[in-house]
Amino acid sequence: MASSKELIRITEKYGAHNYHPLPVVISKAKGIWVWDVEGKKYLDMLSAYSAVNQGHRHPAVLKALKDQMERVTLTSRAFHNDKLGPFLQKLCKVSQMEVALPMNTGAEAVETAIKLARKWGYEVKRVPKNKAEIIVCAENFHGRTSTIVGFSTDPDAYTGFGPAMPGFKIIPYDDTKALENAITKNTVGFLVEPIQGEAGVKVPAKGYLAKVKQICRKHNVLFIADEVQTGFCRTGKWFCWQHENAKPDIMIVGKALGGGVYPVSAILSSWNIMKVIKPGQHGSTFGGNPLACAVGTAALDVLAQEKLDVRSQQLGEYFRSQLGKIKTKKIKDIRGKGLLTGMELHTSAGKARPYCLKMKEMGMLAKDTHEQTIRFAPPLVITKKEVDWAIKVIAKALEG
Ligand SMILES: *Cc1c(COP(=O)(O)O)cnc(C)c1O
Repeated sequence: MASSKELIRITEKYGAHNYHPLPVVISKAKGIWVWDVEGKKYLDMLSAYSAVNQGHRHPAVLKALKDQMERVTLTSRAFHNDKLGPFLQKLCKVSQMEVALPMNTGAEAVETAIKLARKWGYEVKRVPKNKAEIIVCAENFHGRTSTIVGFSTDPDAYTGFGPAMPGFKIIPYDDTKALENAITKNTVGFLVEPIQGEAGVKVPAKGYLAKVKQICRKHNVLFIADEVQTGFCRTGKWFCWQHENAKPDIMIVGKALGGGVYPVSAILSSWNIMKVIKPGQHGSTFGGNPLACAVGTAALDVLAQEKLDVRSQQLGEYFRSQLGKIKTKKIKDIRGKGLLTGMELHTSAGKARPYCLKMKEMGMLAKDTHEQTIRFAPPLVITKKEVDWAIKVIAKALEG
């Protein structure tokens, strides 16, 4: 078998360089652990950006995948399939929403939410043709399509990909005054992450989401929560908006909905809003396919059966309290909710990436987001003992 070094060489030679991965080649995984091709074991502290909340290769998710593979995998939405209805019913139930529209990736679901908000704006709010505005936040991350990167404030994300799609207005995150000031009679929606994950796990002030909801309601603007990263128990509740009982008008989900094995995403809303989408007006060949629905159903069942919201809440708080006890002058800030944590380093400590490389040597995989911050987001099936081990590794990496 080829070595990690050789595999990295041919990956770099034949694959576009749109990522800068840590130099580790994973060939096997189970639960919270992954192994490289040389057989070295690592704790996965990224969980594929929170797409593996249930742990790698969860037996119940794999069983659903295998069972469904033996029956039917793809029908398109030209026909009904027997897995879609029950899946969406379950998804709506856990989300406290009335209706769902299934897609595949997070970015596609964000696009779907944008289309829905605009159409609702024209047909229900009566915004003049092509005048709909959507407000978004600085340092947002909503995916990589040409529309979405057009309202990014990260130069890497948008530079060279213009012209940007019109109809978006950018305001500071965690600033309800700015939101209120930005709203006009043509505003149809406010698209926001309950915690900004890619921006470095930015947690807004307490009460922000509740206030956002109130402002949106007052001005007849749709509150659109992108829960792609924060959803499905990652922050200690099923969805991050539940921390403030700030139920959005449209919720976007993805990542962990696929149980770490398959891309499954969706938007959820009320019929009053979703009714504006009629047959032929939106769709996806793979969205809502029976394999995705079987996997998604199992992924939801695992979260519920193993009470991963509770575990995420308890171990997340424990993890951050233990992080705070590490004797070092390098940590500037520790923030997060549930098992989504950002550890920001002082600039005097140098950039975050060398610490990630050190932790990798010690058997733990974590990724830097922006220069100074390391995100810790293990699969939610992690145990307290394993959290203690992770703390030891982090402490050691910060030594010297
Ligand atoms: C990952 C992510 C997306 C995009 O999901 P993809 O499946 O990569 O397209 C959108 N929004 C947020 C908040 C994300 O973290």
